[in-house]
Amino acid sequence: EVLSNKIAAGEVVERPASVVKELVENAIDADSTIIEVFLEEAGLTSIQVVDNGKGMDEEDALKSFSRHATSKIEKEQDLFRIRTLGFRGEALASIASVSKVTLKTSDGTNSGIELYLEGGHVKEQKPTAFRKGTDMTVAQLFYNTPARLKYLKTIQTELGHTIDLINRLALGYPAISFRLVHNGQTLLHTNGRGNIQQVLAAIYGAHNAKKMIAFEGQSNDYKVYGYATLPEVTRASKNYLSLFVNGRWVKHYLVQKAIVDAYHTYLPIGRYPIVVLYIEGDPQLTDVNVHPAKHQVRLSKEPELLRLIEETVQRAIRGEIH
Ligand code: ADP
Ligand code: MG
Repeated sequence: EVLSNKIAAGEVVERPASVVKELVENAIDADSTIIEVFLEEAGLTSIQVVDNGKGMDEEDALKSFSRHATSKIEKEQDLFRIRTLGFRGEALASIASVSKVTLKTSDGTNSGIELYLEGGHVKEQKPTAFRKGTDMTVAQLFYNTPARLKYLKTIQTELGHTIDLINRLALGYPAISFRLVHNGQTLLHTNGRGNIQQVLAAIYGAHNAKKMIAFEGQSNDYKVYGYATLPEVTRASKNYLSLFVNGRWVKHYLVQKAIVDAYHTYLPIGRYPIVVLYIEGDPQLTDVNVHPAKHQVRLSKEPELLRLIEETVQRAIRGEIH
């Protein structure tokens, strides 16, 4: 089993940011309202995620590292109506197989348990005093897969991936307080009070956030809303377009194109606005099970949605310009 976990790790765990993603998504799935991420050397040395979610009892803690040990799919048909973020039950097994993991967790009914694993094997297990929640530290990522280790980029590049990820998660979950700390320095802190503009200010600066205009629109099957900068505040990259489908951050080329098209001739060539776009619709219309990394999404009734997005953003922009 450890071998197949290592193979799966190649698919799921590409770099420190992929570990952060899986751990933070688990914290979100556990109904946490405060999630803190501590990185040492961009996570190459250590990644710690601390949450105040529902935690695990001893049995669940031990089970959580075996493959397909997901508590999140009850029936087979649930695969087609995914609401929680994790659903494959392989992330922790994969991560543990290529690192040294320390887990402290408690579900609040007992004092808590601490596990230490190396390469996916439990080496130590003891009771520990811990309040309700989970504290997971992943140290020495890829220590036993030198090929993967060699492929990692510089600290700055790896850190950039994680900052980008936490930014999107903070935008996707404004009611959760996120803190990202790198080598002791706080890089992002959101207050978790559900205010998207506060999150935008934390990420892009209060000055830019204040200049973003709200938009909102609805069609038969979809509702869209969000914030967008006027053409006077632009960036040189599409990376500042953040899309969420039912709370999940996704990448979608045609949706990005619909947003950019909404600006029509107002955008200078090669420049993009800062936009955060939330799309809501029946989960049956969205297929997130396209790739294990789960960024891609297939959307049903796509032409209707693209038209709605372009028209809604365009109306907001034009309303401000004229
Ligand atoms: P998945 O998220 O797909 O279910 P994972 O391998 O990511 O699979 O996690 C395995 C299981 O471990 C989860 O289903 C959950 O029951 C438990 N778990 C992991 N992280 C946490 C956490 N932070 N709080 C509570 N339970 C957790
Ligand atoms: Mg998970």
